Amino acid sequence: MKQLLILSGKGGTGKTTIASSFIALLHAQQNEVCFADCDVDVPNLHLIFSEKQTFLSEEAVFRRRAVIDQQLCTHCGLCDRYCRFGAMKNGVINSYLCQGCGVCELVCPVCSQEHKAVYMVDICSGNYRVSATPCGTFSTAQLRPGAGATGKTINTVKENLRRFCTDTPVAIIDGSPGIGCPIISSVAGVDLVLLVLEPSCSGLSDLERILKTVRQLKVPAVGCINRVGIAPAFEQQLRDYCAEQQLPILGEIPFDPLVIRAINHSRPVVDYPQSPAAKQIALLYERAMEYLQDLQ
Ligand code: SF4
Ligand code: SF4
Repeated sequence: MKQLLILSGKGGTGKTTIASSFIALLHAQQNEVCFADCDVDVPNLHLIFSEKQTFLSEEAVFRRRAVIDQQLCTHCGLCDRYCRFGAMKNGVINSYLCQGCGVCELVCPVCSQEHKAVYMVDICSGNYRVSATPCGTFSTAQLRPGAGATGKTINTVKENLRRFCTDTPVAIIDGSPGIGCPIISSVAGVDLVLLVLEPSCSGLSDLERILKTVRQLKVPAVGCINRVGIAPAFEQQLRDYCAEQQLPILGEIPFDPLVIRAINHSRPVVDYPQSPAAKQIALLYERAMEYLQDLQ
């Protein structure tokens, strides 16, 4: 199965608009489609594809967190000193900051027969889901507010996709935005990354960072510029930067109010054939599929 990952350096660039259209176009061409939403902090694909879905699998997402046994703790302060995430302050753990690394447990000198004064527990922070939708098999995770995506969460979403889609030639994956751990897990093992570029000042700086990350992971990348026509100067800067970096631009999608209508109706924009953006997304899809097939 070849995996096409749709990615951006920040949220709100139109990544899901393109991913949902690619899924709909792929579904129109072949019966068996599989897709995943790795943007598990704020998943959106389910808003478009969950109608008439049936669940194939549902499992809890567990995250490791430190807890302190106040009866045992001597307030020696060692865990405060060694916690690199600022999650431990005066014997109180901020569970939103705790990354579950386990260093505090390792350095804590106080121990009962069962556990140390600070020890790790697994807390349920959401669900992994695989479902059969009218467009194909869909893997995602939905996390509770504040749970935060980890590389492991993304890995499991992708692993579930492979487990349930053994005979599917192409998978479309909507990646997490940014450049952190979830991105690295999104990119790992895919065949091609399609970067969705936003013509803006932050879009340019985000492209520089995300491209560096993708190239370090040695995965081929191509780009497309979204919402073309509203910021010509930034569009030209993006084209120049991509030429300099030898990042092929496979398409330019015009700004189109019909995209907003499609989002508001939870439909892929390619369901609106009169949309200028939909026409360019269809061309982009053809080019991306050709590029993917040509890769060894
Ligand atoms: S598990 Fe790691 S991040 Fe969490 S409190 Fe302990 S040292 Fe800090
Ligand atoms: S290292 Fe152990 S004993 Fe010391 S403050 Fe932390 S939890 Fe308490």
